[in-house]
Amino acid sequence: MADITREQLPVLYKLQNINVIINDLEKQLAAVSASPALAEVSAKLKKAIHNLKLTTGELEAKRQMLRQKELDLAALESENKNLETTLYQGQSRNVRELNALQKKLLLNKEKLTGLEEEILTLLQQVEALEESRQKERKQAEIISAEYNRLAGSLNAESAKLQRELERARQEREQVTVTLDPSCLQRFARLTQDKGLVVIAKIHQGTCSVCGVEIPPGLLTTVQKSDRLSYCESCGRLLF
Ligand SMILES: [Zn+2]
Repeated sequence: MADITREQLPVLYKLQNINVIINDLEKQLAAVSASPALAEVSAKLKKAIHNLKLTTGELEAKRQMLRQKELDLAALESENKNLETTLYQGQSRNVRELNALQKKLLLNKEKLTGLEEEILTLLQQVEALEESRQKERKQAEIISAEYNRLAGSLNAESAKLQRELERARQEREQVTVTLDPSCLQRFARLTQDKGLVVIAKIHQGTCSVCGVEIPPGLLTTVQKSDRLSYCESCGRLLF
């Protein structure tokens, strides 16, 4: 432990506390960035938009079909009008031809009825789809607002943590410049091996990290000797 002196321990202890704060802030920031709540709302929003798209597509298809059926209906009606004109305006034709026209007219009227039923069904389907789409749009809007609210608050939280982190890093810089490089290297190696907390302060005769009472003999050594001492319970450097 040649590179760390007793006098440096209080400063290193301060550095250690700042490192703990920085580590905690970094963890909080990572948790905010990877918010499961936001991911959940995002997935919900995606699904809602997907459903809305599907319904819109279905609605467009039904409307297209409806338009086509309405055109078919108009064409058939016009055809029937022509047939009726031919039939009833007494233009002379032979009986066989008249019978054929009559037959055709009857058949067309059946088709007309069928078409009208199809159109009615399509109208009902279009109406139901419009209603579904309205509901789905509303639902997507609600989820979107929820997403924006949550993302906004997470962004604010993230910005706040980043400011705190920036302050802590500046503070660390201020402490670091007061220590010589060999001491810092030794300290860095220690924390690499044993974790962030390697130094304990003696508070009212006990170790600040593990809380165990320091025996009187060791207490005297810590206070008087130039040698570094360790907590007998947790192994941290004592000062
Ligand atoms: Zn201890």
